[in-house]
Amino acid sequence: MTSSPGAPEFADSYLVEVLTEFGLALKYVRARGNTLYYLADDGTEVGVFDAASGFGSLMFGHNNPEIVEHAKWLLDQQTPVHAQFSGYSFALNLAAELNAVIRRELQTDDKFFALFGNSGAEAVEISIKHAEMDRGARIAELKAEIDTHVEQARTAVADGARLSADAAALVGGADFDLLAAEVARRNAQTEARPPLFLALEGGFHGKLVSSVQLTHNAEFRGPFKALAAQARFIPRDRPELIAKVVEDERATLLDVTVQDGVVDLVERDFPVFAAFLIEPIMGEAGIFPLSAQLAGALREACDTIGVPLISDEIQSGMGRSGTFLAGTQIGLKPDYIILAKALGGGVAKLGVVLVNEHRYRKDIELIHTSTYGRDGFSSRLALKVLQMLEAEDGKAYQLAAERGAKAKAMMEAIKADYPDVVREVRGVGLMLGFELHDQSNSSSPEIREAVEHEALAFIIGGHLLRKHQIRIFSTASNLETMRFEPSIYLSDEEIARVDAGFRDICQILRDQDASRFE
Ligand code: PMP
Repeated sequence: MTSSPGAPEFADSYLVEVLTEFGLALKYVRARGNTLYYLADDGTEVGVFDAASGFGSLMFGHNNPEIVEHAKWLLDQQTPVHAQFSGYSFALNLAAELNAVIRRELQTDDKFFALFGNSGAEAVEISIKHAEMDRGARIAELKAEIDTHVEQARTAVADGARLSADAAALVGGADFDLLAAEVARRNAQTEARPPLFLALEGGFHGKLVSSVQLTHNAEFRGPFKALAAQARFIPRDRPELIAKVVEDERATLLDVTVQDGVVDLVERDFPVFAAFLIEPIMGEAGIFPLSAQLAGALREACDTIGVPLISDEIQSGMGRSGTFLAGTQIGLKPDYIILAKALGGGVAKLGVVLVNEHRYRKDIELIHTSTYGRDGFSSRLALKVLQMLEAEDGKAYQLAAERGAKAKAMMEAIKADYPDVVREVRGVGLMLGFELHDQSNSSSPEIREAVEHEALAFIIGGHLLRKHQIRIFSTASNLETMRFEPSIYLSDEEIARVDAGFRDICQILRDQDASRFE
């Protein structure tokens, strides 16, 4: 057996074929800091600056020596990786540390209960299940009230109360038993409806069966629509549409009242929606930070609808924005927070949902488990990552902000020089987007064709890789935006390299000269 990268014969052969077309199918053999290395034909290592950095997974870079050392130590210590159904787990230490950090940032004494999974999308799925349990409990409370009212009405009828005209019309007569049966039948029909979720247009929450239905991109979501509960998507600049969507989807349960000897019917709002999922900085949408105003509007909407506000910080969290949570900078007050990616230090795979105690449904602990979820190795490694973030008064957060600001200034300067090519520079800390103007009306037929086949971002990526040794990709749902998410060890030389690479691209596009793409 060989451990060097092999031929794509039995896996990913189609994907590798596509990437090969753009010169992107390099076989990386080593990774350290912000650099991935591949072997040139003569066998020498060539370093590539990795601006993608695991799509936001590498706050401390590839194979950070302190994290790697700790991982080795954990294994040498014979850390129990698997100890399911036991009284003590290292995940508890991690949950406690996570609480300390997020309670500080959210300025609250509320507790957040942690539910662990193995990846970002899995953590999103756990949050979906938890939110559905919460909705189930809200439905049960409502039903219990209705049942009580029906019994009160039954007693009242036995004591001489009569049905209102509306109530009698529903069952074609003045029979209370028929009315109670019809109320139960109609309510059961409404209860059988699957839940709906709210999410933002352009949002990305993973690609598993349920989470992909909250991911707006129709290419990812469409083929699997029949498999899971659906979302209604709200444009991030039109929060006033939330009320309209909620009204359009409104469903009610029938309840009965007794007043002055008359049994009447009333409608009670049925909990149609399970949760509202958002990203405080929308990553795959093209790096769009939400505004403080929207954060407030979302909180208000969720309180009105009665659903939890779920902040997916899988990409934006863990300090990348300059604070542990990106939501902190816009005053976001979520009920659940989801973390993954950088939580495992770029080595361990784990995700976590942190649920505010006031919305926590503890029964989920008994019915949701996963073999590796909350395993000892990942939990202890993530604890180390948190300690590294918090060390020296949060130096890592400061670095993310400072290095990010420097990189952003570099991109802004390019935009000032190439306003005809660069549309916008966006983002916070080390989560930056460099958006190019749409080239679908390019005077170059090659560039026009590339846009038509959604290939321009790959062509640009291939050029930057070959000519400038920069590995960079567009965001998943906005192909004009190059994402820049390196580690906090981003050096001035690396910023200068990206400066040269981006300027080269801008000049090619200004000249509309596709022949210069390598
Ligand atoms: N949510 C967000 C905001 C993400 O950016 C991603 C990954 N790009 C996910 C969820 C899914 O995470 P994973 O790839 O670990 O399943």
